[in-house]
Amino acid sequence: MVMMLQVFFVLLLIVVIILFVFKPRHKITFALPDNYQELLDDYVPFYANLDEEGKKKFEERLEKFLSAVKITGANAEVEDLDHILIGAGAVIPVYYIPDWEYINLREILVYPGNFNLDYEQHGHERMISGMVGTGGMENVMILNKWELRQGFINSNNNRNTAIHEFIHLIDKMDGSLDGVPEILLERKYVVQWKDLLEQTMKAIRQGASDIDSYAATGSVECFAVVSEYFFEQPELFRSSHPELHEMMRRIFVRK
Ligand SMILES: [Zn+2]
Repeated sequence: MVMMLQVFFVLLLIVVIILFVFKPRHKITFALPDNYQELLDDYVPFYANLDEEGKKKFEERLEKFLSAVKITGANAEVEDLDHILIGAGAVIPVYYIPDWEYINLREILVYPGNFNLDYEQHGHERMISGMVGTGGMENVMILNKWELRQGFINSNNNRNTAIHEFIHLIDKMDGSLDGVPEILLERKYVVQWKDLLEQTMKAIRQGASDIDSYAATGSVECFAVVSEYFFEQPELFRSSHPELHEMMRRIFVRK
């Protein structure tokens, strides 16, 4: 009897060790819709321009993100396309950064059109097209479904609400929402980056820039808006804003 108990405990121990060692680090629980590749090719130029290997990496990132974050419709139906576009907005900015996780994001609320509500006091957006929460809404992002889709349908107007909001999350991850993503930017470039943002805002105020004037609101918005441009029209951005482009490659691409 004692022998049997010993065997039982040894077996139990082995099972526990196996479970511990082979525990999957990221459980994939979100099933991508059957036509996800078609949706990505049709709506996400960043993805469409990748080679086969790059697309596969993008898809894995997308699935991992959508498994980790809850997306809830608030008076809006969240369709397959919305999941894909939100995921794309999350993956694009950090595509070149290995093992990235949005540790400061738990849930995304999707509103149908313009939302105002009480949340406005926590946010700061142009016409409230999206925002990242603070206080009681910490770790929650709000997106406007119409704006979300427009950002991808019009992919050559340098505007993309989802990318914009994810840039705020990245900016915030070092503890301060200040337009300086210390988590990605080497310390030696911080002063140069701040100067560049100032110059960019000044040029916009003087009417001497093709960057959306919302960027002149302050460093936080400037960083988010130039990032939309950087990811939406990389070639045009490089030729129009070479210095900013070079610095943003240091932040997001690092090659
Ligand atoms: Zn913003």
